This record gives sequence, C-alpha cells and structure tokens, in this order.
Amino acid sequence: MSENLNCSKLIDGKALSAEIRQSLKSRSEVFEKSFGRKVGLAVILVGEDPASKIYVGNKIKACEEVGLKSFAYYLPEGASKKEIIELIETLNSDSCVDGILVQLPLPNKSDESEILSHVLPSKDVDGFHAVNAGNLLLGNENLTACTPSGIIELIKSTGISIEGKHAVVLGRSNIVGKPIAMLLLQNDATVTVCHSKTRNISDITKQADILVVAIGKKEFVTGDMIKKGAVVIDVGMNRVDGKLYGDVNFEQASKHASYITPVPGGVGPMTITMLMSNTLKAAMGGGK
Ligand code: NAP
Repeated sequence: MSENLNCSKLIDGKALSAEIRQSLKSRSEVFEKSFGRKVGLAVILVGEDPASKIYVGNKIKACEEVGLKSFAYYLPEGASKKEIIELIETLNSDSCVDGILVQLPLPNKSDESEILSHVLPSKDVDGFHAVNAGNLLLGNENLTACTPSGIIELIKSTGISIEGKHAVVLGRSNIVGKPIAMLLLQNDATVTVCHSKTRNISDITKQADILVVAIGKKEFVTGDMIKKGAVVIDVGMNRVDGKLYGDVNFEQASKHASYITPVPGGVGPMTITMLMSNTLKAAMGGGK
C-alpha cells in the first residue's frame, strides 16, 4: 500500500499478488511432495484474439511462478463446438489436470454457455459453471470467480472491515458484478447493485463506503460521485489508443477515496493469482 499525492492510499494489486503467489508456491511444493506430481491447469484458447493470447500467456507464466504445470491447447478459429467439448471431456477425465480454463471470449460467443457447462464443476477454476455460481449464491464452499475473489482480498488488504458497510457495485455481469455482490453480502456488507437502467446513479454511488466499478466505460466514475473516505475498486479495463484506462477517473477519485486501486496494477494481477489459488484448491478437493 503506498501514499498517493492526492491523499488516498493506493491498493497495490501487484504487491499483494506477489505476496499471495509466494504462499501458493509453498503450497504447490507440498502438494508435489505428497502426490508425486505438480498441480495441473489446462488452458484452452480458440482462435487468434491478440488480447486473449496475452491473457493466456500471462496465465502460463503465473503457473510457472507458483510451481503449477500448465497444459495449453491452441485450437483454430474454426474449431467446432463438438471438438471443443470433446477436448473438455478428455481433460475432465485426466487425473493430471486439476483445473480447466476456457479463455473467453470464444470466436462464437453464442456457444460459450453450452461449452462452459461441460467443464466438470470440480475443475471449473474460473467459477463460471452454473453449479459453482449456484453454490456461491447459497453460500456453500466452492470455486468462486477469480476477479471477485481478488477484489475481496484487495479490500481486506486495506484493513477496513467490510461488515456493516454500504457496498455499491456498478455492473451486473455474471463474471464480475453479480458474484462480487454475493461475496460482499457474505462478508456482511449492505449491497446495492447498479446497471445501465439504474436511475440517478451518482446519488447511489455517493452513499457507498465501498464502491466496486465494473462497467467497461472509460473513466465513467468522476470525483463528485464518490463519498469522502470510500474504498474504490476499479475493475474496468478499457484500451484506448493503446493505453489502458479504468472505469474510474483516477486523478479525481484519489481526492475523495481513502483507498483506491490503480489501472493497471490493481484488480488485474489479482485475477490471475486467484486463478492459481482456485487451481490449488481444486487439486486439494476444495472444488468438490
Ligand atoms: P459486461 O459483461 O459488459 O457488463 C457490464 C455491466 O455494466 C452490465 O451489467 C451493464 O448493465 C453495466 N453498465 C454498462 N453501462 C453502464 C452505465 N452507464 N451505468 C451503469 N451500469 C452500466 O462487462 P464485465 O465483463 O463485467 O467487465 C466490466 C469491465 O471490467 C470491463 O472493462 C472488463 O474489461 C473489466 N474486467 C476486468 C477484469 C480484470 O481482471 N481486471 C476481469 C473482468 C472484467 P446492463 O446489465 O444493464 O447491460
């Protein structure tokens, strides 16, 4: 955590990630000694999307860093739904593969939900399977989506308690907005979820002790939308002319927030770290 010129403190996702990865490395070494093999993560990339290639590369690098074995499968853009599902079924029954990740978006977006439903829930380290999403809703132990899990770690790293706080989430996607709202609720926050049809959004954001923004709109949240002393988590990743911007105007928000995540270097690194954590959890039977 470092002081920011504008008075809010930076929540350093890179530093927190590095710390957690150290402990994951020790745990993966213990696993290897006990079971005579490394924890395994299979990553499936379909097509040539440049951003997806970078994300997959970063995930493979992270596996090396924490001592996991990665199995990468690169399928051509034209791979059929049947081919992808067959590969998933093979990996489901491979005892050296503890986690399976299908990099999204798939070239054919309309196939995504059906394809993901074939990943065994106990190997669904992205936490996107309906069984894992349902278990999150019910408050059962499960494999929880990586970005939301990382956000909770980032908030906890500030030392500020979530209990009793008013948490406002902007965005209601299945991969960020809904699961982070559930996790905040489980951590005893009072949660408000806003979306594109929400009226007078700044009246709501101004009441937030914890504000999580995941809408994919460059610098949508301005300083006047933030309550003094709020914890602000910016999930947005908006690439404009080769530069990465968050959903929050960092310069302005820093004048109001007590703690804030930067983009890049906030939520992003934590997402991959939580993927590593989920894979270890799956290997230890925690996803069952
Ligand atoms: P998404 O599926 O496109 O969902 C966007 C959500 O924002 C929707 O619920 C939408 O409302 C809402 N929204 C859009 N415009 C709004 C507005 N003007 N006011 C209020 N709500 C609005 O996006 P996502 O997958 O959740 O991702 C959100 C952002 O986070 C993107 O920039 C993405 O790149 C980034 N992201 C980052 C990471 C990371 O690791 N750092 C991981 C995942 C995503 P409706 O439901 O009404 O349409």
